[in-house]
Amino acid sequence: MSGSSASHSAARRPGAGHGRTGVATAAIGFVFPPRCARCGREWPGETRGPGLCGPCNLALATPDYRACPRCALGCSEVDLARGDCPRCRQRRLLFSAARTVAPYEDAWRAAVLQMKHAFHEPLAYAAGQRLAEMLADRPFARQPDLVVPVPMHWLKRLWRGTNPAETIAEAAADALGWPLASGALVCRRYLRRQSTLTPVERRRNVRGAFRASRGWPLAGRTILLVDDVMTTGATAPEAARALRAAGAAEIFVATLTRSVPEGA
Ligand SMILES: [Zn+2]
Ligand SMILES: [Zn+2]
Repeated sequence: MSGSSASHSAARRPGAGHGRTGVATAAIGFVFPPRCARCGREWPGETRGPGLCGPCNLALATPDYRACPRCALGCSEVDLARGDCPRCRQRRLLFSAARTVAPYEDAWRAAVLQMKHAFHEPLAYAAGQRLAEMLADRPFARQPDLVVPVPMHWLKRLWRGTNPAETIAEAAADALGWPLASGALVCRRYLRRQSTLTPVERRRNVRGAFRASRGWPLAGRTILLVDDVMTTGATAPEAARALRAAGAAEIFVATLTRSVPEGA
């Protein structure tokens, strides 16, 4: 599972050099200097870690962001200690914890929009590596058994040529050494863009949209669900519902960014 995805991802990984000798990597780097996954500039960087040049690495750093451990929205010290916040306390979320790298603003917002285009898949991969760093710093209560991206309808996937959630999940799974289960969830409908909808419409838009695909051992497993952005928290609970229906024991959510829903 993860082995095939690792080799598949090697081509899109900026500055990939694992498995080569230092001399061979240096020689390849001399002839084909790695390019920054965000700005495209050549950079004489390390071959491990996110493939970003110095300035882009800083722009997409993990900010000091105090987030609710349950819903990943910004919260107070008291909420942090409690383990939930006023925005999620009364909500049944179907996942037990959520982590995010940064609020959906500035450079992170621009990066999330950029990586919707297939050409910028290396940026999604680099961002997934950053997500992995954050998860290593702020671990969940237990290590997930499987990493599952939020799926895109096959027609939209074909049209766009990429699903950022898949690439982010793949990068994070590679970096953390956790098994990747791309395809464990399937999107049944061509969904309208969540960003154009009101919170109520968003929930209606994704209701019943996902199902678990047969052949993945989800029963009794702890699943890490990965997406690029979480807004109202409509998509993640719906995807979690499908995983639960397939018998998943516990679900954690990790996204690159978290945006504050309107009216929250
Ligand atoms: Zn750059
Ligand atoms: Zn919360």
